[in-house]
Amino acid sequence: QLHGGITIVVLGASGDLAKKKTFPALFGLYRNGFFPPKTHIVGYARTKMTHEEYHKRVSQYIKVPEVFRKQLNEFLAISTYVDGQYDEDASYQNLNKHIEKIENDSHIADGHKNRLFYMALPPSVFIPVAKGLKKNVYSRGSINRVVVEKPFGMDLDSSRRLDKELGALFSEDEIYRIDHYLGKEMVKNIMTLRFANVFFGSIWNAQHIENVQITFKEPFGTEGRGGYFDEFGIIRDVIQNHLFQVLSLLAMERPISMSAEAIRDEKVKVLRCIPPIVVSDALVGQYGKSVDGTKPGYLEDDTLKNKQSVTPTFATLVAWINNERWQGVPFILKAGKALNESKVDVRIQFKNVAGQLFKEVPRNELVIRVQPNEAVYMKFNNKLPGLSFQTTISELDLSYHRRYSDLRIPDAYEALILDVLRGDHSNFVRNDELDVAWTIFTPLLHELETSKVKPIEYAYGSRGPKQLDEFVKRYGFRRHQEQYIWPIQNVD
Ligand code: NAP
Ligand code: NAP
Repeated sequence: QLHGGITIVVLGASGDLAKKKTFPALFGLYRNGFFPPKTHIVGYARTKMTHEEYHKRVSQYIKVPEVFRKQLNEFLAISTYVDGQYDEDASYQNLNKHIEKIENDSHIADGHKNRLFYMALPPSVFIPVAKGLKKNVYSRGSINRVVVEKPFGMDLDSSRRLDKELGALFSEDEIYRIDHYLGKEMVKNIMTLRFANVFFGSIWNAQHIENVQITFKEPFGTEGRGGYFDEFGIIRDVIQNHLFQVLSLLAMERPISMSAEAIRDEKVKVLRCIPPIVVSDALVGQYGKSVDGTKPGYLEDDTLKNKQSVTPTFATLVAWINNERWQGVPFILKAGKALNESKVDVRIQFKNVAGQLFKEVPRNELVIRVQPNEAVYMKFNNKLPGLSFQTTISELDLSYHRRYSDLRIPDAYEALILDVLRGDHSNFVRNDELDVAWTIFTPLLHELETSKVKPIEYAYGSRGPKQLDEFVKRYGFRRHQEQYIWPIQNVD
C-alpha cells in the first residue's frame, strides 16, 4: 500500500491515448476521491508546450458539468508538464528534478516518494524510455510502478525480447501490462457469475455446453489509421489479447482465492491446455467498399502504404481446450472492423435437450453483453401462453440500465489505474500469461504472413465474409432465430 505521496508520470503526454483515455480516467479518480493524499501528475513528451497549452490538452476530453469546474481546476493545479527527449539522460535528470521539487514542496519524506510511470508511448520507444527512467528517475527506497500499453510484441520472439529487456529494469511486481478489456465491468463480472452462482457453476462444462462464441464487432474501418493497423491486423489488435483474456476468464478453474496471483495462476493453467490455433480453424477477411459505394475499402485507406496488403480486418478463429472441463467444446473467437454494428458479447450455447418430449426446441443461450449497454440474458424455451402447448423462445433478462438506478459504469482505464494505485495486479497481464498466449497465436500468424493467405473480401457494413455462417455451423453453432422477437425497442 502507498504511504506518503505519489507522482504519476504520463510519458507520451502529448499523444492520443493520454488525451482520450489517461487524463479523463485520472480526473475521474480524482473527482471520486480515489487519489491518495499528495498525488501529482507530471506529463512528459518531446513536444514543447506552455502550461496553458498542456492544460487545454489535458482537459480536452474531460466532459464535466459546470458544478465540477472547481474540481477540474484543482485537478489541473496538480498537473504539470516537462518536455524532453526519450533517449537522453539529461532530459530525464531534468524530469527527476521537477518531480523532486514537487515532492519536497509537499514535504514527502524519503522512502515515501512513490512514482508511477505510465507509458502512453509507441512500442518503439518502450525500452529506451524504461532505461532512461530506471537510471535517472527511479525512486530508490520507495514504490515504483510501470504501466505498459499494448502491443507487447508482435509474436513470441519479439514479446520475449521485450519482456527480457523490461524485466532487467523492473521487477514483475513493478510492471502492470494493461489489457483494457480486463477493466470492463462485464469482463470483471465473469468471475462473479461463474463462481458466486451455483446454477452457473454446475453447468459450466462440456457436458452441457455445445460451443462458446466471443464476438467483437466495430462499425468503422481504419479511417486514416491504416498505417498503424496494417502492421498488426485484427488478430494481434483484438483477438490475441482482449478476446483471449475473456476466454481465459470463461474457461479457467476456480482460483483458490481472489488474490492476483491465484487468479493469474488459473488463467495460465487453462491457456496451457490450448494447442496452437491452426489455419484450418481460421477464417480471415478484409473489408472492401460498402455495397452502396459510399464507404471505402481497406486498401483505399490513404495511410496504407502496401496497397497489396493481406492484413486481416476480420477473423474468426477456433481454439480448443484439452482438459476435462472443455474437451471438444469449440471456443469461437470472432472480431472484425467495418461491420454492421458495434458489439462485444459472449454467447454460450448449450446442448440440445435430450429425449423425445420436445423435439428440436432451440438451444438455450447465455449471453453476456460487454458493450454497448451491459446486459446478461439467458434465452430459454417457454410455453406459448394460452391454449397452446407450443414452445417459444423467451429470456431471463438483466439489463443494467433498467436494473440498477443511477448506474455509472467507470471507464475501463479508470478502474485499471485505480488498481495500479492500490497495487492490485489481478486485472493485468502476467509475463507467463503473455508468453503462452503468443505461443498459441504465433504459428498461425506466421503462416498467414509467410504464405500470404489472401483474406476474403466482405462489404463495409456487412456481417463479415459470406462464408462466416457456414464456418460457425461447422463448429456446431446453430441459430434459432425464427421465433425470437426481442420486444423492447431502443433499449439494446
Ligand atoms: P501516439 O499518439 O502515436 O504517441 C504518443 C506520443 O508519443 C506522441 O504524442 C509523441 O509525443 C510520441 N511519439 C509518437 N511517435 C513516436 C515515435 N515514432 N518515436 C518517439 N516518440 C513518438 O500513440 P497513442 O495512440 O497515444 O498510443 C500510445 C500507446 O498506447 C501505444 O502503445 C498504443 O498502441 C497504445 N494504445 C493506444 C490506444 C488509443 O486509443 N490511442 C488504445 C489502446 C492502446 P512527442 O512527439 O511529443 O514526444
Ligand atoms: P442476434 O443479434 O440475433 O445474434 C445471434 C447470433 O446470430 C450471433 O452469432 C449473430 O452473429 C448471428 N446472426 C445475426 N444475424 C444473423 C443473420 N442475419 N444470419 C445469420 N446469423 C446471424 O442475438 P440475440 O441474442 O438472439 O438477440 C436478438 C436481439 O435481441 C438483439 O438485438 C439483442 O440485442 C436483443 N436482446 C437484448 C436484450 C437486452 O438488451 N437485455 C436481451 C435479449 C435480446 P453476428 O453477431 O456475428 O452477426
